Amino acid sequence: MATFTDPLDSITDPSDWADSSFPNLSKLDSLLRCHICKDFLKAPVLTSCDHIFCSVCIRRSLESDKKCPLCHEETYESKLRKVLLLDEISSWFTRNRPELLDKHRPTANNTPEPVAAPEPEKPAVPLRYESRKKRAAEEPLVECPVCSTFMSADELQTSHIDSCLANKRARPSPSRPVISSFFKKERTPQTQPEFVKKKTKITNLDPTISTNKLKEKLNYWNLPTSGTRHQMETRMKEFISMYNANLDSVNPVDDRVLINRLMKWEGTYSLSKTAGDTEEDGAQWRRKYQKEYDELIKQARANMNRINTKLDSTD
Ligand SMILES: [Zn+2]
Ligand SMILES: [Zn+2]
Ligand SMILES: [Zn+2]
Repeated sequence: MATFTDPLDSITDPSDWADSSFPNLSKLDSLLRCHICKDFLKAPVLTSCDHIFCSVCIRRSLESDKKCPLCHEETYESKLRKVLLLDEISSWFTRNRPELLDKHRPTANNTPEPVAAPEPEKPAVPLRYESRKKRAAEEPLVECPVCSTFMSADELQTSHIDSCLANKRARPSPSRPVISSFFKKERTPQTQPEFVKKKTKITNLDPTISTNKLKEKLNYWNLPTSGTRHQMETRMKEFISMYNANLDSVNPVDDRVLINRLMKWEGTYSLSKTAGDTEEDGAQWRRKYQKEYDELIKQARANMNRINTKLDSTD
């Protein structure tokens, strides 16, 4: 099964620390990664054999094989337990990694121009680091419609907008102490927001389900019923993995954000797996849900404006 990976995350690697002034951070960097996707742990869960993976990764994996990918012991989805503290640590590291990496770049004083030829063994690491830096610097920045922070379009679309819409937090403005204290309220550590507690996990799809029942299920979750039976099944299964994994996250997102992610995932999946025959459906679906997603951003922006106006009038 294809996995949807964040294009920005996919270029990070523990070896990025090799040329830093603190190369030991590569250890922490690799410890915080998932054995399945090699990316930083997202909504990590603990198996009955005491191994930790991203919730969505292990759920996808257990769909086809009820064994732990690390130790091959038998394990089940029902045994998975979320580890919220680790989720917080991993997201903290992911968020602060670029700055940490920057602060630990060797300064000009520490690294005088080499007199002799550089070691021929590891030329790849500094080269990759440089090219990524350069690329990031050349990327034009776009503004987040919700919080007005500037970032690369990639970052906005792949990760930021999700968490931003979920939190609906504004950047504290120094001229408005009322707003900043209002939005600065942090949740208690290792606690999920209230709306998640009312939700329950979706049970796995019964493979003998009738096509009509499958369509009903898709409809219920506002998912498209286009494509072949196999495509509908794949879509429903992936949504269940994403939905259940979202409930394991310390920072869960709105269902509409999940649908948008599924839409992107299916775009990648259908292009690579069934090139051609689903293109029309995929395009239609993307158009339909892109509209809905744009609407969501518009709504969030309107909400923000309303809050700002309200606070302005009480100033
Ligand atoms: Zn993973
Ligand atoms: Zn294991
Ligand atoms: Zn934002």
